[in-house]
Amino acid sequence: MSALPYAEVIGDPISHSKSPLIHKFWLDALGIAADYRRAHIKPDALAAYIEQRRADPDWRGCNVTIPHKVAVMDLVDDPGDIRGTIGAMNTIVRQPDGSVIGTNTDAAGFYAPLAELDLEGAPVAVVGAGGAARAVLFALARAGVGHVTILNRSPLKAMGLLATFGLKGEVVALDAPLPPAALLVNSSSLGMKGQPPLDLDLSPLPDDAIVYDLVYSPLRTGLLETADARGLDTVDGFDMLIGQAALAFELFFGASPPEGRDDELRALLVA
Ligand code: NAP
Repeated sequence: MSALPYAEVIGDPISHSKSPLIHKFWLDALGIAADYRRAHIKPDALAAYIEQRRADPDWRGCNVTIPHKVAVMDLVDDPGDIRGTIGAMNTIVRQPDGSVIGTNTDAAGFYAPLAELDLEGAPVAVVGAGGAARAVLFALARAGVGHVTILNRSPLKAMGLLATFGLKGEVVALDAPLPPAALLVNSSSLGMKGQPPLDLDLSPLPDDAIVYDLVYSPLRTGLLETADARGLDTVDGFDMLIGQAALAFELFFGASPPEGRDDELRALLVA
């Protein structure tokens, strides 16, 4: 008899991940007999992990978080050319024939809360140049944004991303003054529980600017509180977290998440 089908989230560290809570909430709500786990995988164990799971017919796949989103591309099939576009994978799916493919649901999840806005030609500022920043810059390039300022600790990495996504802009240090951007996105780990805070002076932003923080642990970050204090519109990491998870859930379990339950999920996430 076959064991329970399962998916999981892998990363290093992994204890902060909210993915098990979200996927288990949806599995319970839909009455699907399956499990969703958390696996602490260090970088030197990533290749062995993928090989071992590849042989497990109960494994539906995994979500991928810090620091594996780029490295995992070397270990799985890439039918959607994620390497040549976003350049980072956050969802790995085992196909019934045992092949393992990678995709990225972060870009769509990030863009969903901005979909009603006209960002064509708008100046934007992005903090960070890691895996999440790749999804952000890919989506912003598709939205036709104007001048892009990337604030990052490692400038060369950020310059490479501007080139990769064909964006016009510049790279500045984390403590440089912000430009008058219409949208400020934090896609770095700064402000996350256990990480240093992201201390930015938001005064150069126009009064109608939007501040979007991808960090979801906590959901209300210091950056968003500073933006609130300035009366700016804010977007927290919840919609992206749920949006990217919903696409992955469909790939793992073949069902859409239940509708109308997001408020319950948000309450669980902030508890
Ligand atoms: P990552 O690939 O490890 O990149 C981390 C980024 O943060 C890099 O740009 C890194 O700078 C910067 N950084 C880390 N520690 C720093 C420090 N002490 N000082 C200065 N800069 C530092 O991680 P990721 O996957 O992009 O994730 C980044 C954040 O986005 C995390 O908080 C993650 O939880 C969040 N996220 C949220 C969602 C969502 O659905 N809401 C989805 C994906 C990610 P360097 O380039 O200099 O190394």
